[in-house]
Amino acid sequence: MKRTDYDVIIIGAGPAGIFCALELTRRDSDLNVLILERGVPLENRICPVDQGGSCVNCNPCRNITGWGGAGAFSDGKLTLTTEFGGALADYTGRKELESLIEYCDQWYLHFGAPRKVYGAEPGMDRDLRRRAAAADLIFVPAGIRHLGTDGCLEICRAAYDELAGRVEIATGTTVQQICTAAGEVTGVRTAEGEEFSARYVVAAPGRSGSEWLAGEAGRMGMDVSSGSVDIGVRIELPALVMEEITEAVYESKLLYYSKSFDDRIRTFCMCPHGEVSLENFDGLVTVNGHSYQEATGENTNFALLVSKTFTRPFNEPIRYGRNIASLANMLGGGVLVQRLGDLTAGRRSTPGRLQRGVVKPTLSEATPGDLSLVLPYRHLLGILEMLEAMDTLCPGVNSRHTLLYGVEVKFYSSVIDVDHSLQTQVENLHVAGDGAGITHGLMQSSASGVHVARVILHREGRGR
Ligand SMILES: Cc1cc2nc3c(=O)[nH]c(=O)nc-3n(C[C@H](O)[C@H](O)[C@H](O)COP(=O)(O)OP(=O)(O)OC[C@H]3O[C@@H](n4cnc5c(N)ncnc54)[C@H](O)[C@@H]3O)c2cc1C
Repeated sequence: MKRTDYDVIIIGAGPAGIFCALELTRRDSDLNVLILERGVPLENRICPVDQGGSCVNCNPCRNITGWGGAGAFSDGKLTLTTEFGGALADYTGRKELESLIEYCDQWYLHFGAPRKVYGAEPGMDRDLRRRAAAADLIFVPAGIRHLGTDGCLEICRAAYDELAGRVEIATGTTVQQICTAAGEVTGVRTAEGEEFSARYVVAAPGRSGSEWLAGEAGRMGMDVSSGSVDIGVRIELPALVMEEITEAVYESKLLYYSKSFDDRIRTFCMCPHGEVSLENFDGLVTVNGHSYQEATGENTNFALLVSKTFTRPFNEPIRYGRNIASLANMLGGGVLVQRLGDLTAGRRSTPGRLQRGVVKPTLSEATPGDLSLVLPYRHLLGILEMLEAMDTLCPGVNSRHTLLYGVEVKFYSSVIDVDHSLQTQVENLHVAGDGAGITHGLMQSSASGVHVARVILHREGRGR
């Protein structure tokens, strides 16, 4: 039987929660740590879509919840530079973040990550940068270690084995409320009404739990600011078109400022030889992508995302993103797919037109349709402009056969007000990872977990 009082309770078993637990228990600190995870254990994380079936709206979605969090089925591109994947450096300082990334990278290697790092040799991207600039694009270099979806699962398994017996892990347990008294955290209450007390609580609920966390923060009277929402599409094209870039740097980080609206548009999560996949946020179906370590697929996919920050009086970017994605869900019963040529010709794609296309969709679940009925004008125009610019760098990107899947939405919105130790305005209540709007990727979310653990260890007199 589980005890009910702990030193530290961690909400969420994604990379942030797992790395927090690894660090808390690393030096046999004898702290009692409980991880509460809403989703299922790793071995039960079977998605009907991956089995050739249809999305049945599992609640919670097994692709993004459960042991390993959204990281388990991610593409596993570990960004080894501080420039991407979040704003953790604003809290820790850049030097400290560099050192945290190096440290977490060692854990990933220990758990079996491949040793190869893409884009690390100095100077190799010089030519690409020059050609990108000539195409009106900004090429941002970044060292990437690619785990692949298969590698991610192995790493999640290894992390579980490392922690089993050292911390208590309760999957299938949703935290409903964070409990406080006199401005200090006292524990949590689960959806089943169980209460657990703790001296420290680390909330690491990821993107899927960000709305819940923002709601809790609001209820506790904390300052929460709405950030930007990134809305766009996933592009799929023949792997050969992007091969020069993906072979050299694996993931090309390209930025473009649209001529029409001066919006910032970027490539995101490039999956060479990968597959387009679905994400389900509490019933809202959106698109994503992943690839395996030894991926051999014929297509490459990546997202083109338009960043938008809202100004007063509107402060609900998550709702805005949800509404746009729900239009695609309404029209297509999920994700829509369209050939670029159909989009620019002002007609929907049909199964027949897709059939005649050069690029065969890797996501069979997507419904052929018309994205111009879904995406706002400025988003669509910006995406079309960026495809044109990318075509100068990699001829073939702007082909009429290129596929666009929509909608891809990144809910980075609510940023919880925290200090440099990621402590909220409630004493001993810390946040980590994507859920608090601080990080946006595997490496920084892992690093944020370690950072919080070190703060707690230090306060407990067990620090460095
Ligand atoms: C398809 C896909 C591909 C991706 N590819 C990459 C990539 O290549 N590189 C990269 O850097 N990033 C990638 N990401 C993003 C990366 O997975 C996330 O940035 C990372 O997982 C965030 O870690 P986290 O611990 O903050 O949150 P999560 O991994 O989301 O984990 C949070 C956990 O908290 C649980 N939870 C939420 N609310 C509660 C609650 N109330 N009670 C209990 N538990 C709760 C959730 O079930 C979840 O398991 C990808 C994401 C997806 C979905």
